[in-house]
Amino acid sequence: MINNVTKEQLRRIAKRIKTTTDTDDCWEHSYAPDKNGYATIYINYQKYRLSRFIYEYHYQEDIPKNMLICHSCDNPKCVNPKHLFIGSHKDNMKDMVNKNRQAKGENQGTSKLTTIEVETILLDCLNNKFNNMSEVSRCYKVSVQQITRILEGESWNHISSKFTKEHNVSLKSIKENTKKSIKENTKNEIIKMLETTNLKQNQIAKMFGVSRHVVGDINKKNK
Ligand SMILES: [Zn+2]
Repeated sequence: MINNVTKEQLRRIAKRIKTTTDTDDCWEHSYAPDKNGYATIYINYQKYRLSRFIYEYHYQEDIPKNMLICHSCDNPKCVNPKHLFIGSHKDNMKDMVNKNRQAKGENQGTSKLTTIEVETILLDCLNNKFNNMSEVSRCYKVSVQQITRILEGESWNHISSKFTKEHNVSLKSIKENTKKSIKENTKNEIIKMLETTNLKQNQIAKMFGVSRHVVGDINKKNK
């Protein structure tokens, strides 16, 4: 959770958000958005997506790993906390399909990426956001092969070499982060859910954005 943010930093962020007295309205930010309409802010040199920051700060709640912030209002520029909810990649995809606003073609694997998406993929992989390549592929609606080519420096090398220099990491270690089957803390959270709730394995799987088999395996090994 972001808790080391100063009043001055908050004031500066608030200045860029147009709020209304009606809390049901969309509150749009005036940051320069990326091509999907999302804004990025820096707090103490750490990069945050504005909607994630607002959610965590407002609700004083961590967004679980692998979870996204979705918009009930379908307005990516909106950061009204009332319009933000936590969802899995799958929820978000389903939501997008339902709203019939898929940014990319129907054919998974044939869509082209943009510079910003490639940078986001690298950052997400670096931050251990994904448990495996197919999760990355599902999230960005591109093929596993495309992701592999990026993480092996075969494509988008001009972007990845800049990125690895900036973050002082090797592309190899970013790839390793993504290949690990499942992160230790995610595993522990799943074990806790299995032990303390009556949720079905597929419900838990959905919450963590992993397949039911992953939860099944954890359950078996934990016994
Ligand atoms: Zn809204």
